[in-house]
Amino acid sequence: MEEKKLAPTLRLLDGTEVPRLGQGTWYLGEGLSPRAQERDTLRRGVELGMTLIDTAEMYGDGQSEELVGEAIRGLDREQLFLVSKVYPFHAGRGQLERSLEASLRRLGTDYLDLYLLHWRGSVPLRETAEEMERQVQRGKIRRWGVSNLDWSDMEELMETGLGDHCVADQVLYHLGSRGVEYDLQGWLAQRGIALMAYCPLAQGGSLRRGLLSHPAVWETARNHGVTPAQVLLNFVLQRENVVAIPKASTAAHVEENAGALDFCLTEADLQRLDGAFPPPSRPVPLDIV
Ligand code: NDP
Repeated sequence: MEEKKLAPTLRLLDGTEVPRLGQGTWYLGEGLSPRAQERDTLRRGVELGMTLIDTAEMYGDGQSEELVGEAIRGLDREQLFLVSKVYPFHAGRGQLERSLEASLRRLGTDYLDLYLLHWRGSVPLRETAEEMERQVQRGKIRRWGVSNLDWSDMEELMETGLGDHCVADQVLYHLGSRGVEYDLQGWLAQRGIALMAYCPLAQGGSLRRGLLSHPAVWETARNHGVTPAQVLLNFVLQRENVVAIPKASTAAHVEENAGALDFCLTEADLQRLDGAFPPPSRPVPLDIV
């Protein structure tokens, strides 16, 4: 019998279809692996349909954006979905524009598909939302969102009157850290706001010891003929409003990750995984790295 697959794309609030499996880039471009290897890995990911690339002005002080710029040179810009993030202390009047222009320069592009507030700082959410809107008007970003905001911050964002233009909230979410399932995930889904799961592989398992080697994960992987990493990605992607952005610096890893949509976890799988990594039974403060 042929395996059922997960939907490869998700529709954002403004109707745009984006791939549900994208590519993270934290620590890329900093010399931890050969530059050509990292660049080619990103390009391979794009070839495999992972055309959403997530970066930030913070990553390596712009080095990640520069590497992404190098990787996408010569590719069809309209086929890509570039995401970057502004530091909270740059997210005010005047400063946000300066940060954005610098990100665009490093990426070698004249617009971002999505610009996120990296986390909440002291700049009022209304001021950041107004600045984001101004950049949409200037054609420098296609849309905006936030990151590391819990549902109570999101409620506040909605009260600014501009919150309904926020298309995504990027938060930590993996099998070993399921707090968002208690409230935030449903809150976002109800409003059509995408949940972008960062650290979907728990940073290769290092955020939760034993995650990738857990017997429940292995048994699930064996049942579908897939790998533990693919189980982790598939787990967060079974919820309809989720996008995952695993980071890889080798072709083998990115190719493996690209295959994570090609199966569906069964009820028995979910029960097994719930037994090993229980869903939250009460509110949990938002997990961050
Ligand atoms: P991930 O959970 O994506 O894990 C990355 C690690 O997993 C790397 O060590 C990578 O190794 C390894 N890996 C990748 N693929 C596989 C595989 N198939 N099997 C086994 N190991 C694998 O962690 P990140 O912290 O990178 O999170 C993903 C992205 O989310 C970031 O890169 C960044 O873009 C974003 N992010 C956003 C944050 C925010 O505050 N908004 C915070 C943190 C991350 P290798 O490199 O050797 O391939």
